[in-house]
Amino acid sequence: MSASANMPREDKASFQQPGKSPGKKGWMLVALLFLFILPLLGGTYWMYVQSEREIKTEELQNDLLHARTLSEIVEQDFTTAEESLTSIADRSDVRRDWERRDMAAMDKHLREARKLEPAFLFTGVLERDGTMRVIVPPDKIVGWNFAYRDWYRGVTAHWEPYVSEVYQTAASPNPLVVAVAVPIRGNDGQPTGILMATYSLAQLSNKFRMLDKGSKADFYIVDQHGMVAASSREDGRSAAPAAKSALEGAEGSGRFEVDGKNAFAGYAPVPQLGWGVLYVRSEEEALAPAMHLKNQHRLVSLYLLLIYLATAAFAAIVMRRKTQLLAANQALNADLQKQIAETKKAREELDRYFLLALDMFCIAGADGYFKRLNPAWEKTLGFTVEELLAKPYLDFIHPDDREATAGQAEKQSRGEEVLSFANRYRCKDGSYKWLSWSATPVIDQGLIYAVARDITELKKMQDALTQAKEEAERSNKFKDQFLSTMSHELRTPLNAVLGFSDLLTEEHYGPLNERQKRYLDHIQKGGKHLLRLINDILDLSRIEAGRLQISVERVAVKTSFADAVDNMRPLADKRLHTLEAFAPPELNVRADPTRFRQVLMNLMGNAIKFTPEGGKIELRAQELGEVVRIEVRDSGPGIPTEDQHRIFEAFYRLRRNEKTTEGTGLGLAITRSLVELHGGHLGIESEPGAGSCFFFTLPMERAHPIRGDQGGSFRAISGDHQRILVVEDDSKSAQLLESQLTSAGYEVTVCKQPERALGLAAELKPSVITLDIIMKPISGWELLPKLKSDPRTSGIPVILVTIVDQPETGALLGAEEYIVKPVLKANLLAAVQRCLNRRGKTSQSGRVLVVEDDAATREFIAEFLTSHGYAVGTAADGLEARAQVASSLPTLVILDLILPEVSGFHLLAEWRNDLRTANLCVLVLTSKDLTREEREYLQANAGALLRKQEMWQEALLEHIQRALPQVPAGRS
Ligand code: ADP
Repeated sequence: MSASANMPREDKASFQQPGKSPGKKGWMLVALLFLFILPLLGGTYWMYVQSEREIKTEELQNDLLHARTLSEIVEQDFTTAEESLTSIADRSDVRRDWERRDMAAMDKHLREARKLEPAFLFTGVLERDGTMRVIVPPDKIVGWNFAYRDWYRGVTAHWEPYVSEVYQTAASPNPLVVAVAVPIRGNDGQPTGILMATYSLAQLSNKFRMLDKGSKADFYIVDQHGMVAASSREDGRSAAPAAKSALEGAEGSGRFEVDGKNAFAGYAPVPQLGWGVLYVRSEEEALAPAMHLKNQHRLVSLYLLLIYLATAAFAAIVMRRKTQLLAANQALNADLQKQIAETKKAREELDRYFLLALDMFCIAGADGYFKRLNPAWEKTLGFTVEELLAKPYLDFIHPDDREATAGQAEKQSRGEEVLSFANRYRCKDGSYKWLSWSATPVIDQGLIYAVARDITELKKMQDALTQAKEEAERSNKFKDQFLSTMSHELRTPLNAVLGFSDLLTEEHYGPLNERQKRYLDHIQKGGKHLLRLINDILDLSRIEAGRLQISVERVAVKTSFADAVDNMRPLADKRLHTLEAFAPPELNVRADPTRFRQVLMNLMGNAIKFTPEGGKIELRAQELGEVVRIEVRDSGPGIPTEDQHRIFEAFYRLRRNEKTTEGTGLGLAITRSLVELHGGHLGIESEPGAGSCFFFTLPMERAHPIRGDQGGSFRAISGDHQRILVVEDDSKSAQLLESQLTSAGYEVTVCKQPERALGLAAELKPSVITLDIIMKPISGWELLPKLKSDPRTSGIPVILVTIVDQPETGALLGAEEYIVKPVLKANLLAAVQRCLNRRGKTSQSGRVLVVEDDAATREFIAEFLTSHGYAVGTAADGLEARAQVASSLPTLVILDLILPEVSGFHLLAEWRNDLRTANLCVLVLTSKDLTREEREYLQANAGALLRKQEMWQEALLEHIQRALPQVPAGRS
């Protein structure tokens, strides 16, 4: 099965590609809407035009109807008038009264006629010839002849009723009238007179107005001559052109110009009278409905337009929204496309990794079968993927690992991840391979996704490594054992070698010849070098193993400087170096006093060693914020810049070929580690030819110093403060003596002017005087007798300290001791002690018990102390020591800690718990590496702790001298 076959096919996402731009589409929609609204607008306009035309036609028709109505009214009015006149004229009583010419009766009849027809303005009776006989209402015109009148001519033409043209009547108030005339006939039917009435046109007008109430239309009644008989308008106008047609007997309607304005007019003839009637409206009036329609059309158009605009706006908004949505959709699409592409790429990459990976990828189901495997499985195990898929995976697992594997699978089914698990898988060839697993379950899928790595080789290597580590640990342990054995086994004999050779050098046991002295010198040099090397190697290995513990306390820098200078002075003197130390009196550091001293001595030792003779070495300390910077500066050859960082490496030495340089190459490496253990830093400032300055920092301690004692806070050792007067005119020598004596607890007064020495001695009454011989203006030889002869000073013991080797002369002149320069501290202190003892003349027994299992060391210590005037007893192990102390209490015990039978610690604890020995002075001298607790115990319970790996002899002597100021016997 190929892995790629299993890979899910790429999803073919079909995304709609956007067509035309949405903006364009929007505009098209707006255009479409416009196209739609246009015919609508056109349609309404067309309807409007049609309606307007219809309205016009209708209105004209209306006008015609009005005109017709008017004409009928006129005709009817006049017909009625004519009929009513005729009926009066035809009445028999009228005819009779007329026949008689009874004017009064006629007057009565006329009055009745008027009553009958109120429209008659006048009624009159006229003779056949046209003379007015009676008129009602009466008027001046009676008697007048009216044969000229149209009405007269008309009625007499055929003796038929006649309606006249319009004329202005002669009767007051002379209004425009129409006359209606009818003949009066006699019994024979012949006309005998004329009955006439004038018809008021104003009356007719009123009637019309009444009929057409509220109308703004005008009407005109035109007589047969075109004269306006009646009109709705007061001003009266000439008949409109329409009147002509009416007079010609036509009826109709049309648009005419009236008074320069367009007007609608209906016209109709009044046929009986030959008159015409006009009904005229202004165009405005006539077209009011059309105008109304027009307005309505406008409104509808506006409304439609508004609807269109609103729709267009809405469409635009919708389109815009759509556009935005489309744009967002497009962006989303693009994003999606990109993501799909990335996912595809990532999947392809994953596929590639899956196929190419050296690690074995798998997906396993909850049913215990693999679901998918990458080709690495085939390569690693040799089975094909199909073979592996065919069986439960547990079948391929080493029987011993099946249970654990099933346990892991069970854990995973609960959703726990497996980060490191290893098991063995069977290969096709039957061998097994170690696989390391990292797996994560996907619970909802019921699958475990896991990756395995073939760690068979790694496992082998690990096994080999574990073995190697165990071996290394074994050998390290062995090394530790070796080192601790060495520290004891090598140092012990070396101490003896150095100790005894030292004793021999001092010629206590007879003089040595030059060759012997030279050989002894070789022995000492070699031994010292060996001791230093052993100490350095042990220190370094302890530091590297992190086993070096420091126990910090407050340490006064000045005191430590004095102590270091004191120790190094003899060496410096030998090489004629000036050695100076400067430190502020109250400056303290937090340090392990022993290690601080070691650091100082290492750096000073180097400075002394590498600086050519006659150089200058300076110690300085200064406060730098929270730390104290300590410098050891020399005037030596300096160190090239390129070597400056290398000199701190172990075993790195410059100028190793030069004979003058001796060393191990470990000093600076140890020194740096020690400084760093204190939280400080060691550095160098140097230029070739301009000397070197090694500096280091230590944490500052602000409180007042208690003590600079290298031994720490050990039990106080009793000792009186004795004053010593040093008479020495050479400053350097005076300084040396002063520091040697001060460091041993003596109070020292230096007198550099020998001529003042006698007075000073008399005044101070010192316990001992040291006296140089070669001095100016008076020499020691001259001063000594004076001191010895002056009663004030004669009792004071004098030690001659000189380069003149004439002890006999000294003894002769009364000197108690004689020391030849260069002065060794131990010799000086021993001499001082002897003087003090002699001066005290006491014989208090002071017995020192040396508890030491190494015979040579034991013998050396005993010999060393005996040679300094002490009574010494020895014990070779703990049991013996215990017995001796029990039988006779010594004044002081020098105790080794590593002892057969009962250890030094054990003994010390016993003694402290016993009242008799609770205050016994015990000085511990050991090469054992101490733990912090052991060290603290010793600080509380021992008088001092001296280390065999250091130059312990002088320190031991000092402590003993302080504890036992008096010894029984003088030095031989
Ligand atoms: P050692 O002194 O035993 O040779 P160190 O580790 O103390 O080893 O010093 C390493 C090297 O650094 C020395 O060999 C020496 O060449 C150089 N060195 C150390 N101190 C000084 C100094 N004060 N002046 C010149 N060279 C020095």
